[in-house]
Amino acid sequence: MQVPLYSHSLRSRNVIKSICVFCGSAAGNDPVYGNVAAELGRMLARKRIRLVYGGGNVGTMGILAESTMREGGEVIGIIPVRLHEMVEHLDLSELLIVPDMHRRKALMQEKSDAFIALPGGIGTMEELFEVWAWRYIGYHGKPVGLLNVHGFYDELLGFLDSMCTRGFLRREILDDLVVSDDPGILLEAIVTKPSADLASLLKTHERLRKE
Ligand code: AMP
Repeated sequence: MQVPLYSHSLRSRNVIKSICVFCGSAAGNDPVYGNVAAELGRMLARKRIRLVYGGGNVGTMGILAESTMREGGEVIGIIPVRLHEMVEHLDLSELLIVPDMHRRKALMQEKSDAFIALPGGIGTMEELFEVWAWRYIGYHGKPVGLLNVHGFYDELLGFLDSMCTRGFLRREILDDLVVSDDPGILLEAIVTKPSADLASLLKTHERLRKE
């Protein structure tokens, strides 16, 4: 018999010791993005939650990592060799250099108990959607959250709502995404989120075409 990678029934609540934060290699054109990233970093450090992130020193990534370190927190950066050769680095608790983006994302998932996306660009989107899709397929049971700083994600949330209305996304899956514009509220919701078994939401009987 094959052993499942993750069993939802084994635990009713996730124990959150480390959180992977996906964020921009840019800082955006409003200081609020950097300020909220720094605030989240300080909160993680004070709550003794290890930060796992992309290992860069640029944009909100750099601001987040620096503020976590300054507050005495623990930070693990995971960076592919190609990026490592191209960019400057911060002094982190640990910097793991991996062969490629696939290994980077796999290691980010292995080393984290939950995921948060801050405002960012297409790299951030790719990382967010992978962990969220993998959660609902059942590859992991780790909570996924969105920090909706100054309504940054409002249009995306509207589009996701439209996916539900048009029958491409189950409402329960959208509701499973933890969303807040406040880092403290988001962290608390993630830490206290009960485990969910989303496997029942997998589409198994949908027809390709209805007459
Ligand atoms: P984006 O949201 O498009 O700004 O992308 C954020 C992601 O871009 C990161 O997680 C990395 O995959 C990648 N990235 C781009 N530039 C850097 C950098 N200088 N250092 C580390 N990662 C970077």
